[in-house]
Amino acid sequence: MNRRQKKRFLPLSLLLFVLAFGGGIFWQYWHYTRAPLGAQGGPSPEDQFEIIEYQIQAGETLAQIAQRFSVSLELLVASNELFLEDLKELEPGKTLRLFKNGVLHRVKAGQTLTDIAKTYGVSLQEIITVNNLDARKYIYPGEELLIPSASEAPAWRRFQLAGGRSAFLSWPLHGPLTSGFGPRRHPITGERHFHEGIDLEVPEGTEVYAARSGRVLFAGQRGGYGLSVVLQHDHGYRTIYAHLSEIFVYRGQFIEGGQRLALSGNTGNSTGPHLHFEILHYGKPLNPLALLPPL
Ligand SMILES: [Zn+2]
Repeated sequence: MNRRQKKRFLPLSLLLFVLAFGGGIFWQYWHYTRAPLGAQGGPSPEDQFEIIEYQIQAGETLAQIAQRFSVSLELLVASNELFLEDLKELEPGKTLRLFKNGVLHRVKAGQTLTDIAKTYGVSLQEIITVNNLDARKYIYPGEELLIPSASEAPAWRRFQLAGGRSAFLSWPLHGPLTSGFGPRRHPITGERHFHEGIDLEVPEGTEVYAARSGRVLFAGQRGGYGLSVVLQHDHGYRTIYAHLSEIFVYRGQFIEGGQRLALSGNTGNSTGPHLHFEILHYGKPLNPLALLPPL
């Protein structure tokens, strides 16, 4: 190799080196980020994130099925959106869907991944990883997502708050009714007025849940209502939760029925700790007792 050849060889070999080495790093990076979950050891992804379809056998109870697959009853109900009616008539042959490590969630129209992550108290990245959504731009209504290690299961909460019934609205919490809907003497001013909701007496700090899925229209301080949340539901319905002490949701957020919204309190025009709950239909207040499932 003479001097001239050397001059030409050096840049060429440098280029080759960069290509080979850089390419190797890139390949490793690509391979690593594309590698399926669990490929680095531990339980295989098939075991961890498997959806089991199970046909109920004659004479079998939900509790038995839950035990057989070591799934909590809570997750079983939440993943299948079961109601008490379903529980009573657990027909042999009916198929249940099970996800051992969390909840199966069906996406609703207008619901974002961020909403879903907040609903279940799970990180957004975890939902993306487990459901292989990295390369996706959209999620679709009706689509089923695995929610691993969900700390909350609103469908189960809704089940409890609706007394297991498939009601249009579930109770925001359970507590004694201290004031009904209709004309009354105002507890503070003493004047006659129309009570547009119901009052449920509960100690300050009691958890308040959404009566139905919907979007947060308002969350904050609002005159006599004090700290309050307004949810917009489908079919022109709104629900109001007033005199709260703490709010966990924000305007625009999509909420599931049974999702924790706030803690009850005694803010605004309130004579003692309670939840004021209101249902509006196209702006007109309705008697909540006529719409809520019987206790
Ligand atoms: Zn009230």
